[in-house]
Amino acid sequence: MRSPLLEIRNLGVEVPVPGGGAAAAVDGVDLSVAHGERVGLVGESGAGKSLTTLALPNLLPPGVRIRPGSSVRLDGRELVGAPTRDLRAVRGKRVALVFQDPTHALNPALTVGSQIREVLLVHRGLRGGEARAETLRLLSEVGLPDPARTAADPPHRLSGGMRQRACIALALAGEPDLLVADEPTTALDVTVQARILDLLVHLSEARGLALLLVSHDLAVVSRTCHRVAVMYAGRVVEKGPVKAVLERPLHPYTRALLAARPRLTGPRTLPAPIAGSIPAPSAWPTGCRFHPRCPDALDRCRREAPPWVGLSPHRATCWLHWEPGGGAS
Ligand code: SF4
Repeated sequence: MRSPLLEIRNLGVEVPVPGGGAAAAVDGVDLSVAHGERVGLVGESGAGKSLTTLALPNLLPPGVRIRPGSSVRLDGRELVGAPTRDLRAVRGKRVALVFQDPTHALNPALTVGSQIREVLLVHRGLRGGEARAETLRLLSEVGLPDPARTAADPPHRLSGGMRQRACIALALAGEPDLLVADEPTTALDVTVQARILDLLVHLSEARGLALLLVSHDLAVVSRTCHRVAVMYAGRVVEKGPVKAVLERPLHPYTRALLAARPRLTGPRTLPAPIAGSIPAPSAWPTGCRFHPRCPDALDRCRREAPPWVGLSPHRATCWLHWEPGGGAS
């Protein structure tokens, strides 16, 4: 069994709400990622996925804060409440982030090479010829065909796929243990998406790099990850090995996400969109937060939050599978 690299316990993230006060947009999330493991975090927009990942190195926007009682440990070291100096040492060095839109992640006024060299200087103390050689090696490692030319280019000269590869090279420059990729392929063409996902898997395996991949798309996660956690309305509602969750989903929301995917193989059926949308954090429903959209909702679902059911490592929070005395039906 791999040793834990990242351990998130009872993570809460509070956002300001109109009229004053705050609401927990992320509420009691438990999640772990082992060294070299690839974990997907899946759900619709508004589920709390991105806030969860931004909370890890505390890169939350102004006014958004981590709730007291939350814990984020990296190799056993607590990051919540750590001094800014310690968090700076973690960001980019131990934990690196890749975002959805590579256009905004890169500085348009600087060449790709100078941006990578800056990270090499800050996190690894490399400069001069050593930094230039490492920059070319990184650009080559992420599959850019002419590293010297790419290094000399400003980002706008690159295609979308090349820009995302350059962003991944930038993220790797600090030699992180964990790469957090938030919808890294959503802004790209379908054929480019597949190549970027294959690159992430290759880098994870070649470097022993752990990956936390955020996506709204279960197909992306099934292609890439070992385990998956499904988020709904600020909470993880199902988690387990990817194969088990996709083949035998326990939670009606996971089943709905699977039914909403276009099918490329098997019998031709139209995707079934999930009716409604995730409410705002200030209006989370009582009981099971999915109950207003759940086709299987029971009376108690409206009143009481469901317990965890299922057998570890595949578990979900749903009254449907609950039996007095524990376990799943
Ligand atoms: Fe549906 Fe009830 Fe399960 Fe929630 S607890 S997903 S409402 S059956």
